[in-house]
Order: sequence, then C-alpha cells, then structure tokens
Amino acid sequence: MRLLEWQGRAILEKEGIPVPAGGRATTRNAAREAASAAGGAVVLKAQVPVGGRGKAGGIRMARDPDEAARIAGEMLGSELKGLPIHELLVVEAVAPVSEHYLSVALDRRRRAPVMIYSPRGGVDIEEVARTDPGAIRQVPIPPLEGPLPFRLRQLVSPAPPELRKPLAAIAGKLYHIFTRYEATLAEINPLAETERGLVALDAKLILDDDHRPGDQFAGLADALVDPLEADARAVGMSYVRLEGDIGVLGNGAGLVMATLDLVAQAGGRPANFLDIGGGARAERVRKGVELIRRDGKAKVLFVNVFGGITRCDEVAQGVVEATVRSGLPMVIRLTGTNEAEGRAILSRAGLVPVHTMEEGAARAVALAKEAQP
Ligand code: GDP
Ligand code: MN
Repeated sequence: MRLLEWQGRAILEKEGIPVPAGGRATTRNAAREAASAAGGAVVLKAQVPVGGRGKAGGIRMARDPDEAARIAGEMLGSELKGLPIHELLVVEAVAPVSEHYLSVALDRRRRAPVMIYSPRGGVDIEEVARTDPGAIRQVPIPPLEGPLPFRLRQLVSPAPPELRKPLAAIAGKLYHIFTRYEATLAEINPLAETERGLVALDAKLILDDDHRPGDQFAGLADALVDPLEADARAVGMSYVRLEGDIGVLGNGAGLVMATLDLVAQAGGRPANFLDIGGGARAERVRKGVELIRRDGKAKVLFVNVFGGITRCDEVAQGVVEATVRSGLPMVIRLTGTNEAEGRAILSRAGLVPVHTMEEGAARAVALAKEAQP
C-alpha cells in the first residue's frame, strides 16, 4: 500500500522529522485559506500516487493566496500521468540551500533493510544513480542489530561535515518508522537543508500489505483509513480501489477476483474490487453500486452474482433500483436460486443479463471503450 504524500508526511511529523507547515485542499478556496495560513508563498503539490510529479507539472509555486487559488483551480480536476488530481497539499515554500536523498528500502537479495543516502537529492536522483553512482551511499542494516551509530555515520559520511550529525539523527528516525510501520520503503527526497535546518519536503512510504495494525497508527486514523473502504467495511463489504474504469461488483472474494482477471484478459481495467458478501440482498447491491459511484472512476458496471444462498430475484431488484440512480451502463451476470425470476425482473426493466462471465467481461470492456471521450 503506497501512501499519498500527505499521509506519509503525517507519519514523519508524528515521529519527529521536521516538515514544512501546510494543509490539504480539494477546492480553490481551501487552497487560498491554506496558503494564507502557511503565510504567503506556497508550493502546491498534486496528491497522486506516482513519483516524478515535479517534472510532470504536479508541483507548482504560488507567490500569494490569490495565485494559489488560481493555480489550484488549474490543477484540481486535471490529470497527472493519467491520474485525476482530486486533492492538493499546500505547503509553505521553503528555499532549499541543498537537497539530499535519504531512504530505507527492503533489499530482498540481502534479506535486510538497506539505507541509502546521497548529498545530490532532488528530482534528478535517477540521473545521479546512472551517471555518478559514487554519489549514492548504501549501507545494509542487519535487522537484529539495527541502525547502530557507526552505521549511520558511515551512511551520511559523503555529506558536508556540519550536516552529518543532524542527517544521522533523521536517518535513525526514518529507520524507526520503517520498522514500526512495517514499511517496504520509506523515502525522503528531497530532504532539504534550509536556514531552519533539515526539512523533509517530500515523503514516500510504502507499507507492507500484510502490516499489522497497531497503536503506532493512533492519531493517524484520518491519514491512513480510506473513507470509502472504511464505509464498505462498516456494512460488511470489502472494497479496494483500483486504477481502471470498469466497476466490478460481485459476491464472494474468489468470484470477484476471477471477474477482475477476466476483465483484464478481455483488455479492460477494473476500477475496483467489491465483494458485497454472501446472501446479497437488493439493498446490498444498491449500497455497493453507490460505493462504486462515490469512487467515481467507473464508466460501466459489471455485476457478477453467483447464486447459492443468494437469491437472484432479490439481486435483480437491487440492480434495477441501482441502475435507475447510477446512470451508468450495466452488464449483469446472474445465476443461481430463483434465476428465472431474477431474469424476468431485469427484462421487465429493459436490462439484458449476459449468460457467462466471459461474455460479461467482453461486453463491459466494449462499453467502457465506447464511453471514452
Ligand atoms: P516528486 O517529483 O513527485 O518527487 O515531488 P517532490 O515533492 O519531491 O517535489 C519535486 C521538487 O519540487 C523537489 O525536488 C523540490 O526541488 C521542489 N519542491 C518541493 N517542495 C518544495 C518546497 O516547499 N519549496 C521549494 N522551494 N521547492 C520545493
Ligand atoms: Mn520527491
């Protein structure tokens, strides 16, 4: 699970690594207010889960709150590397004297974490890795020993002497974050040298998908819980956001996974995983479709319900109600108990169910392509 910058930043801040003052904004006015609060000149940063935002135009400077509002208006609703920008982080613009790179990554070959530091951080770090690999220091950390002081000194030894101590202190904190939050990557690039000392201007954290929830997340709930996924869980459903444009709804995790595979095989990209659970009733289907609508990426819905204890007529009723509200084209595959009654309900509403999952996947992919602008 890759955290957005603002989420990773919340963890750095909680664990005592300095970050610039700032706040989140989803509207022009919120950006204006955040800029006023931050004290004037700000940097607006697209909150999308990709790197290289700086070079792609996802990081922009504004001199005052009015300009911040104008730029926020341009950024919000636009796309960065194919991902819609729904949210910005608005932070005070600090002027870096120098930019450093610092990270802890899992080195699977060594079976140990490795810490990486370079005094030549910033947006060109990949270029530095290629042309000047000597400027990047790597220090493996034996997990049972941890980041002993001599290792941290070794790590930051390429830095100017006066920066070594504060860099080593931040490196120790970053290692602590890496283990405590069960990350596979914790990266700060750039870690900026400023007049006030070192400040983390970016935060990239990838948590192990199997990380154990625990009290380290206390006070961070807001930063780490996806409200959509939480609402789904609250009603006993399981929702995972994906990147594509075909909404998928089914009952049973295995069936939904198989549906995602078939959609991908048919050349489409699922917008989500949604398991509405067993014994799915009309009301649950309606709620499920609502969740997919709120997510906002789906251009077509593929409902795949396999009966057993699930009654098809109940499901069909939910599909009909949900269709009326969703305004999205729907492909429905329905089999099982009371199948004939279910199909009759769908037909009466002018909906045509497909007979197999493969046929459904192909239809959904075709409809999604038609819906492209
Ligand atoms: P990334 O390109 O997605 O890694 O986004 P970053 O958050 O690292 O921002 C890219 C670049 O923008 C950084 O390397 C900095 O040079 C610059 N930048 C980001 N935040 C600030 C800031 O607060 N002040 C200034 N002056 N530059 C910033
Ligand atoms: Mn960065």
